[in-house]
Amino acid sequence: MLIDAWLPRAAAAHPDRPAVGALTYAELERAARRAAAGLDGVLAGDRVAIALPPGEDFAVALHAVWRRGAVAVPHDLRLTEAERPAADHVLGELPAGDPSTASGRFAPVLTHDLDAPAAVIQTSGTSGTPKPVGLTFGNWLWSALGGASALRSPGPERWLCTLPLSHVGGLSILIRSAITGGTAVIHERWDTERALAALMEDDITIVSVVSTTLARLLDAGLQDPPALRCALVGGGPVPPEIMRRAAAAGVPVSQTYGLTEACSQVTTQRPGDVRPDAGTPLFCTRVRVEADGGIQVRGLTVNGTDPARWLATGDLGRLDAEGRLTIVGRKADTIVSGGENIAPAEVEAALAEHPAVAHAAVLGRPDPEWGEAVHARVILRPGSEVTPDELRAHCAARLARFKVPKEVRFVDDLPRTASGKLLRRSLT
Ligand code: ATP
Repeated sequence: MLIDAWLPRAAAAHPDRPAVGALTYAELERAARRAAAGLDGVLAGDRVAIALPPGEDFAVALHAVWRRGAVAVPHDLRLTEAERPAADHVLGELPAGDPSTASGRFAPVLTHDLDAPAAVIQTSGTSGTPKPVGLTFGNWLWSALGGASALRSPGPERWLCTLPLSHVGGLSILIRSAITGGTAVIHERWDTERALAALMEDDITIVSVVSTTLARLLDAGLQDPPALRCALVGGGPVPPEIMRRAAAAGVPVSQTYGLTEACSQVTTQRPGDVRPDAGTPLFCTRVRVEADGGIQVRGLTVNGTDPARWLATGDLGRLDAEGRLTIVGRKADTIVSGGENIAPAEVEAALAEHPAVAHAAVLGRPDPEWGEAVHARVILRPGSEVTPDELRAHCAARLARFKVPKEVRFVDDLPRTASGKLLRRSLT
């Protein structure tokens, strides 16, 4: 099915509203028209890599690519050439075309085909090499509508995006803003002070964060942000302690569980919901949990054009009688110690409850006696004093004995992806 292209429609409906940063919808539309005229040689269906930093030019390039009927391939600029998904053309800068010249004239594509690929996005590479995933215009549309409904969006949002636009979490903000007529406020990279200022002074209504960046905001003194309806936190385990701290600081938080293959959100907590689970599925998405605890998902947001196909996510979870999903962890991260299965996230959540702990990461290491043993890497809060044995005792008061870390090591840093997700496989 064909629908009106999002940007031209938004530009006609509310030309003066800010679309990306200070750029209004009319300005974004004009810029995209010019850039599309400069995309000489790009044919419908071609893959066009956008190798630009997050910002206004990136948004212009995205809509210009669609105007040519081509597929956007946002490139993660930190990856090497060989690691990036294949493309027919690479945009290292915004093309400057002139629609009034012979070379700038082309028949613009002013519709989106819901079954056609809109973008190819790479996964985070948490479990190995990042995988390219093709997502259709329909996937993005349903994801935007399902997300807005789950978050009870009262109207156009002002969404702070500090995530890379080469991944689904960041790109979805840009695309859903165009679909819903909202504004994307883009920070090129995470800067706690800058994010704090935007939340306190720039009328941000939604911000997407991972638990680390939320913790940094709370540590920096985020308190009662005036316009914020929701800090959407996901991408990895969210220790309940973070949810409690956020609630105490007057920061409304919704946990979400999502993945690239499902075009970001699968389940989301409704605003005001402070339970430690990841909420319920979007209205256009279905979730089931297999006998081994494996989470499967299907629906209109899942990549491909067959909404009946169940996708195995590789994650483990539990569904309760109300259809709320609790994420246990990733199958591949499960530590098997003395025949017992241990989810690192549970041990990390217990460590996070200690006041001296700023961040914790848990991994399994080979152990001659138990096969694998639980090890913890901990970043302490500045000025706090605690010994590894005290932290082990803290865990022993909360967890079964086999889950208590055999070793707790203090570190200055933890390996993370560009979005701030823990890279557990890089822990040593
Ligand atoms: P790769 O597939 O390359 O290993 P990745 O799985 O991290 O990387 P993404 O699609 O970016 O790729 O991330 C999705 C994954 O993030 C989920 O499958 C899940 O493991 C994790 N995740 C997302 N939200 C949550 C959450 N709320 N709680 C726990 N884990 C989460």
